Amino acid sequence: MEHIGEFDLIEKLTSLIDIKDSSVVVGFGDDCACVNINGKLILFSSDIQIEGSHFLKEKISPEDLGWKLISVNVSDIVACGGLPKWSLISIAFPKETEISFLEDVYKGIKKALDFYSFSLIGGNTAKANQIVFDLFITGETKRFVPRSGGKEGDILFLTGHTGLSRAGLELLLMEKKEYEDWEKQLISFHTKPTARIDFQPVVERFANCCIDVSDGLAGDLGHIEKQSKVKIILEKENLPVHPLLEKFCKKYKKDPYEYILFGGEDYQLVFSISKEKAKEIKNAYPIGYLEKGKGLFLKEKKNIYPIFPKGFQHI
Ligand code: MG
Ligand code: MG
Repeated sequence: MEHIGEFDLIEKLTSLIDIKDSSVVVGFGDDCACVNINGKLILFSSDIQIEGSHFLKEKISPEDLGWKLISVNVSDIVACGGLPKWSLISIAFPKETEISFLEDVYKGIKKALDFYSFSLIGGNTAKANQIVFDLFITGETKRFVPRSGGKEGDILFLTGHTGLSRAGLELLLMEKKEYEDWEKQLISFHTKPTARIDFQPVVERFANCCIDVSDGLAGDLGHIEKQSKVKIILEKENLPVHPLLEKFCKKYKKDPYEYILFGGEDYQLVFSISKEKAKEIKNAYPIGYLEKGKGLFLKEKKNIYPIFPKGFQHI
C-alpha cells in the first residue's frame, strides 16, 4: 500500500471486476456510476469521512461534519449533471462515543438534506476503532456529463474560488488561541463546504465534461486531461484569487497560486463548454481552454509552463 498511489490502486482493483450488465452506462472511473433504468439515467456514488484521515474530532463541530458528509457526496452527483435523490448511511464508532455527538452530526445531516432537497432513507451501524461516516448516494440526470467529454476548442469554466479550504485547514492546524473573524471565515470554507448544486442546470444542459474540485484544481483537471485526451491551458490572470486567500498568503508569506492550483476540498465545479455556448455561462470564471494534445499547462503572459498535478490523495 505504501508504494502505490490512490489512483493506481483503484485501477488495479477495478480491473478485477467486469461489468456485464448492459443497462450500466458508466461504471468505474468517473464521479458517479450511471445506470439506465427504464429510460431514466440514475447516478450512484459514495464518499466517506474517517476520523483521523478526513477530519479531526476536536477540530470540526459535529453539525459541520454532518453537513460536510452530505455536501461532498452531492458534489459528485452535480459534477455528472444530476440532482441528488436518495441516500443510505453507514456509520461506525468506538463504544465510548457520546450519543450527543452522533445526534449533532445528524442535525447537520438533516440541515444539508433540507438544503439540497433529497432524502436519507436507511443505513447501518457498527463498532470500530475510529469514527466513520460513509454515505451512498443516488441521483438523476437527463444527460450524463462525463470527465471524458472535453473537446478541443472548449472553454474551461470554474464556478468559484479554490484554495480557501486548504488555507482554512492550515489555520485550524495552527491551533491559535484566538482567531480573527476573517480567519474564522477561511476555516469555515474547510469545515462547511457547499456543493454547487446551483450550477446543476448549467452542467446538465451545456457542459461537455465536468469534475468537482475535491483533490485540488490541478489534480482534478489531470483527470479531465487524461480522460478527455486533450491539452489543457490555464490562464493565470483568469484564475480567481479570493481576497481572504490573498490576505492569508500575505500574512504567512505563501504563494496564493500554490493554494489555488493544489489545495483540495473546495467542492467547486470545473467544466468545459463549446465556444458557441460559452456566452450562455454567467457567474463562472473562464479560466482556460482545451486544445489538441496532452498535458496541463499554465499560461502567464506569453510563457507557458507545464503543471504536474499533485492533488491530495487519501492513501
Ligand atoms: Mg469527484
Ligand atoms: Mg468525491
